[in-house]
Amino acid sequence: MARIVMKFGGTSMAGTERIRRVARIVQRQQAAGHEVAVVVSAMAGETDRLVNFCREANPLYDPAEYDVVVASGEQVTSGLLAMHLQALGCKARSWLGWQVPIKTDDAHAKARIEDIDADALIASMASGEIAVIPGFQGVAPTGRVTTLGRGGSDTSAVAVAAAVKADRCDIYTDVDGVYTTDPRIVAKARKLKNVTYEEMLELASVGSKVLQTRSVSLAMKEGVRVQVLSSFIDDDAPAADTIPGTMIVSDEELEGLDMERQLITGIAADKNEAKITLTRIADRPGAVAAIFGPLAAANINVDMIIQNIAKDRGETDVTFTVPLADLARTQSLLEERKDTIGYYRMLANSKVAKISVVGVGMRSHAGVAATMFRALADRGINIQAITTSEIKVSVLIDEDETELAVRVLHTAYEMDGE
Ligand code: ADP
Ligand code: ASP
Ligand code: MG
Repeated sequence: MARIVMKFGGTSMAGTERIRRVARIVQRQQAAGHEVAVVVSAMAGETDRLVNFCREANPLYDPAEYDVVVASGEQVTSGLLAMHLQALGCKARSWLGWQVPIKTDDAHAKARIEDIDADALIASMASGEIAVIPGFQGVAPTGRVTTLGRGGSDTSAVAVAAAVKADRCDIYTDVDGVYTTDPRIVAKARKLKNVTYEEMLELASVGSKVLQTRSVSLAMKEGVRVQVLSSFIDDDAPAADTIPGTMIVSDEELEGLDMERQLITGIAADKNEAKITLTRIADRPGAVAAIFGPLAAANINVDMIIQNIAKDRGETDVTFTVPLADLARTQSLLEERKDTIGYYRMLANSKVAKISVVGVGMRSHAGVAATMFRALADRGINIQAITTSEIKVSVLIDEDETELAVRVLHTAYEMDGE
């Protein structure tokens, strides 16, 4: 017997038939003798719909009220799943974020989980009751509802798994595992049996939305066993957790599992960045600090940065990227400081995409970046910026070339499957 946390995403929860199928998957896990808690997302599209209502109400909406609105999507699906489970004869009840409670900080719309009092949950699970928990939501020290940022139900699931000391956290979604790249973009993407926490963290942070980045860092920190599985299975199929998905493993485990590993594990694309160039900045100490200091103070995350070599007249151009959602704020902050920073022009481009290749194999192999640059050049794809880490290389390109670039690289690294 094991204690299992199962998480079902938006597509899996979209409508009566799908929730009924989820209920049957959950019921089978319980019937196999496991203690079960379930974390659910809102129905697919629902959170977007609710966010739109907020924007229509007031473009500068109060984040605390935004949380009240957007948290409602998960409240609906948690109650519905509990009803479906009851209809199948299971004991089940929903636990809203404040009822558990899932305690977060008060950073509305992007709250972090600080603590979960799991005693009541554990007691309920031990009594044979299935705990159904809405993902994405928590409660601030002020007693108000919070949400964890888009895609946050993955993080809720991992946090609940850590709190109840679950043997496993199974993330059920609309694909049957983590692939070498988004299988909806590249038909030849291959499913990965195992991926390390570190690789998954890099992949998530550069745009593979199959898991929210924070859920992976939390799982790594708390040592939660996470696997990604499909909820789209027939009732007469073997138990859902016996159909292989992708297991997130440690470096050491991977070595034992997969000796013949490919150099590159995955490729991800992210269209949610924008590029800014400030031209003709004085090449002197403090110039760059004058740009990035105010952005940091405004909580704007700068990602890629390039500073060109100073030309004869002691001036240089600085190019960097920020999240697309922060572009307007960045522009107005820099505009206000034009004289203090001392630049000539500010150029902005929101039609860019960041393409990243990730793999722990890079640590021991040279030439990964060179292969990337050559493959893109052969297709006439221009590179506008580059960044690297120990296990990742990212390039910034024109947004229109995203899909082509991902396909070309998938082939160049010999990752194509059947
Ligand atoms: P859920 O609603 O279940 O949380 P998401 O839409 O958040 O599902 O995440 C699943 C989606 O992630 C898939 O439908 C797929 O298009 C996308 N995705 C992006 N990169 C990958 C990848 N490398 N492997 C699998 N899926 C990926
Ligand atoms: N429903 C939320 C969202 O769409 C959280 C989640 O699904 O993970 O972002
Ligand atoms: Mg998701």
